[in-house]
Amino acid sequence: MNFLITGAAGFLGSALANQLAREGHQVRGLDDLSTGDPQALSPDVHFTRGDVNDRPKLWTLLQEVDCVYHMAARVSVQESILYPREYNAANVGGTVSLMEAMRDVGVHRVILASSGAIYGYQPNQPLTEDMRPAPHSPYAVSKLAAEYYIRTIGSLWGIETTSLRIFNAYGPGQNIPASHPPIVSHSLRQALRGGTLVVHSDGQQTRDYVYVDDVTSAMVATATAPNINGLVINVGSGIETSVRDLINLVLTTTGSQTNVVFNQKIAGGVSRMCADLSLASQKLNFRASIPLEEGLRLTLKRDPRLKAA
Ligand code: NAD
Repeated sequence: MNFLITGAAGFLGSALANQLAREGHQVRGLDDLSTGDPQALSPDVHFTRGDVNDRPKLWTLLQEVDCVYHMAARVSVQESILYPREYNAANVGGTVSLMEAMRDVGVHRVILASSGAIYGYQPNQPLTEDMRPAPHSPYAVSKLAAEYYIRTIGSLWGIETTSLRIFNAYGPGQNIPASHPPIVSHSLRQALRGGTLVVHSDGQQTRDYVYVDDVTSAMVATATAPNINGLVINVGSGIETSVRDLINLVLTTTGSQTNVVFNQKIAGGVSRMCADLSLASQKLNFRASIPLEEGLRLTLKRDPRLKAA
């Protein structure tokens, strides 16, 4: 098949692009390199630097494409609180530009990398796709708007659309910004360096951590799965892990005795998050296969940035 991946130089985009190229597909990648790194892509991926709002560029890249993976986005919840306009332009505007260009060229399938952040505070767990979203950051709102836009524009123009609500993905190559880094890569790095690990709140808040290879498997399956037009599907591990337990696992896996500080003054976000994977199992035949302990070991092994000091 011929694929276009937006955000292809990012953490999840590059893993997906390389996997599809390994399977023998034709893969084009677009990324503005705001955080992505083209070095992460195998030489078999045809990479173009550009903005997802650049429709003329999209018209060219979309020729003969069977399916688009739309992964390009600004991804920091905290940053989105400071710069909501930018998040709206990239995540919502970028999605609408892509859908318009797909309509113009006549491409018939798109898969959106959406987010479990859309659920926000919910009274019940696990989180099912039919729950009423309660986004509590501009980032989460932008992902929800993108879901609505692809489904609505798709149904108007006969484009098949599927949104995958990805939970806390982790693994080698994840961007580690200086401010508000993702917890798994950050805690592994701090543990190896012997730096203090500051845990937000009391660490009892839970998340659903899913290894990058499992996310990639779900995404690959979505390209050819039947009867998923218009659906939103969760992608996670289905296992709820507290931040406290995650940190303990990081310490055991790295053999580190680094200092862990619980800062009750920093809010820890929603208290619980766990994906219900019934729909993913039924529609994509998906089951997460890599437990957190193994995922942490693989991340250490495969990420050259994570080496003991
Ligand atoms: P990432 O930051 O590594 O990847 C995003 C990529 O998009 C980057 O390479 C960046 O340079 C690119 N990009 C940003 N704005 C762009 C623009 N205007 N035009 C072109 N390219 C642009 O993040 P990631 O973790 O790989 O996330 C990929 C997708 O998956 C995002 O859409 C994100 O919202 C979604 N997602 C990720 C997670 C996770 O845990 N990693 C969870 C839920 C959803």
